[in-house]
Amino acid sequence: MAKLYFRYGTMQSNKSNQIITTHHQYTTQSKRCLAYTTPIDSRSGYKKIKSRVGLELEAEYITDDIFEKVNKENEKEKVFAVLIDEAQFLSKKDIHNLSDIPDLLDIPVIAFGLKTDFRNELFEGSRTLLELADAIDELKTVCQFCNKKATLNMRLHNNIPTNVGESIQIGDEEYVPVCRKCYKERLDLV
Ligand SMILES: [Zn+2]
Repeated sequence: MAKLYFRYGTMQSNKSNQIITTHHQYTTQSKRCLAYTTPIDSRSGYKKIKSRVGLELEAEYITDDIFEKVNKENEKEKVFAVLIDEAQFLSKKDIHNLSDIPDLLDIPVIAFGLKTDFRNELFEGSRTLLELADAIDELKTVCQFCNKKATLNMRLHNNIPTNVGESIQIGDEEYVPVCRKCYKERLDLV
């Protein structure tokens, strides 16, 4: 039985690169693989997933009828995997729709995204993935300020750490991966 996967990580944890590499692995074996992203993140330009090492992948935006779309594509030509970028921005309903793909079509869905926002609160999409996913993996990276593993995202507003504001504020040059200790110290939470 196919699974719903959630691969989460902080900023700079190589998520876009991994999604592009996974797509490449399937397609080099002549296995058709569909890639989707969310319209909230316009950083990458129209329907494109871009990684920091310069790789690019064409992707469609997720819509309410994602299950029907994948079903139709699969009827045309067998689909071996569905890849999702920026899954944190999806709604609870979107994730429930995605979970029907492994359950009813027996096609794995691999969703990549952040777990928490810069206030260290779960995104709606990530929360629902943590509730529903069959397999959950962490993509690791190092804290911006020390040598520990980063587990949180820090927002820098004019280079000053902040944990106030709306959850979704696009422009990733303002976000850095940090460990919990540095997060607390730099936001004066200790
Ligand atoms: Zn640190």
